[in-house]
Amino acid sequence: APRVRFAPSPTGYLHIGGARTALMNYLQARRYGGTFIVRMEDTDRVRSTEASVQAILDGLEWLGIDWDEGPGKEGPHAPYFQTQRLDTYREHSQRLLAEGKAYRCYCTRQDLEAQREAAEKAGAFYKYPGTCRELKGPPEGRREEEAVIRFKMPSTEGTVSFDDKALGVITKPYSDLDDWVMLRADGIPLYNFGCVIDDHLMDITLVARGQEHVNSTFPQLMLYMALGWKPPEFAHLPLILGPDREKLSKRKHPEADVMLHKRTGILPEALNNFIIRLGWSHGNDEVISREQMKEWFDFSGVGTTSGVWNPEKLLWLNQQWMKELPEATVAERLVPFLEAKGFQVKGDSRLVPLVHALKERSRTLEEMATTASLYFRSGVTLDEKAAAKHLTGDSLGLLRKVRDGIAALPEWTVEALDGVVKSVSESSSVGMGKVAQPVRVAITGNTTSPGIGETLLLAGRDEALRRIDAALA
Ligand code: GLU
Repeated sequence: APRVRFAPSPTGYLHIGGARTALMNYLQARRYGGTFIVRMEDTDRVRSTEASVQAILDGLEWLGIDWDEGPGKEGPHAPYFQTQRLDTYREHSQRLLAEGKAYRCYCTRQDLEAQREAAEKAGAFYKYPGTCRELKGPPEGRREEEAVIRFKMPSTEGTVSFDDKALGVITKPYSDLDDWVMLRADGIPLYNFGCVIDDHLMDITLVARGQEHVNSTFPQLMLYMALGWKPPEFAHLPLILGPDREKLSKRKHPEADVMLHKRTGILPEALNNFIIRLGWSHGNDEVISREQMKEWFDFSGVGTTSGVWNPEKLLWLNQQWMKELPEATVAERLVPFLEAKGFQVKGDSRLVPLVHALKERSRTLEEMATTASLYFRSGVTLDEKAAAKHLTGDSLGLLRKVRDGIAALPEWTVEALDGVVKSVSESSSVGMGKVAQPVRVAITGNTTSPGIGETLLLAGRDEALRRIDAALA
């Protein structure tokens, strides 16, 4: 069974690319009865924050991506924060030093900068020249504790290659790689080192991550070889582009923030559905449930084509999911949006009927709440044109008849309310529309709304009668 992981660096919120990596790994684990691990690569001590750890976990939780091992879950390979695993990295770097597969490097930042600049000027690709490779001990006046530890590339010629599940076979000659830094002087591992040690010790069988890490795979594979470890399989996921076809980035694209979509009223089912389609598809299927994803998703179906952000598609999917989910579920999700508008609606019996009436015409929960606020507010502002047309002359007489009829009803139901409008239309020999329109304007201030019985029911008996009386006054 696969053991897969999501290894975010907690330096900001959960972004769409990270969410896709997490979702795909999660699905792989669920499909094949495997294990999904979350590991925090918090080695950037300046940029990593507790708040960001929480934000990432909150994002995963909102999307319903649960992990089997990781923060808050623990498990056999704990701890799951890299900064709590420094002894492990130290130990493995000592082993590599002892075996002559790594060495201490005393080059100063200035030395390295100067070399890099010189290479750039010459238009050459920079490689650490191996200055400290053969040192037997620290140079004059320096101490071992000040050294970083570098990986020692084999001095032979050779190539390193792997068969990526998404990209196919990729190869690099050793000559493209250099003696990279594994461990800083303070014992903090660099990404490639911490990643390999942890992936191995956590028994990861498949590493799936963004395509920006393809080139890191080569030095990582060199390390697996040096340690005599079997590398996992790899799948590098295609790029995600923003609506402007630029690489989706936190800096340029606010929609890269997963939780932004929670705030704007996107359902997590819709966002999951949207995310899984970024670089993966299943025939012509568009509306895809979690159960279907678990059945269908496989990394072999991930290609090299970038996923492009289509905002219209996200809204369309969201509307599909508003219709797909049970009305009671949507109603529950709607509550915080109405509360944010100042309405105390918990337990209000009109929530489910509201969803029923509005789901066909709302693309987001926020839109639905905006339309719904009409029924929770006290009083209504009449559209001048609508009032001038429908709240005058004979129409007011019809409105009064409806008012009397509905006030006398022992119980308000859609059928009974529609029945009153119908009988007024029959007894007055005018069309239903002619009777319903003044009622509609009185209740909603405007000429469009759900069916008239539904509209009255949504406003509620007291408020509906108050609004009609105000229109009649
Ligand atoms: N911490 C790395 C990142 O967030 C993880 C890359 C990987 O999955 O190996 O990009």
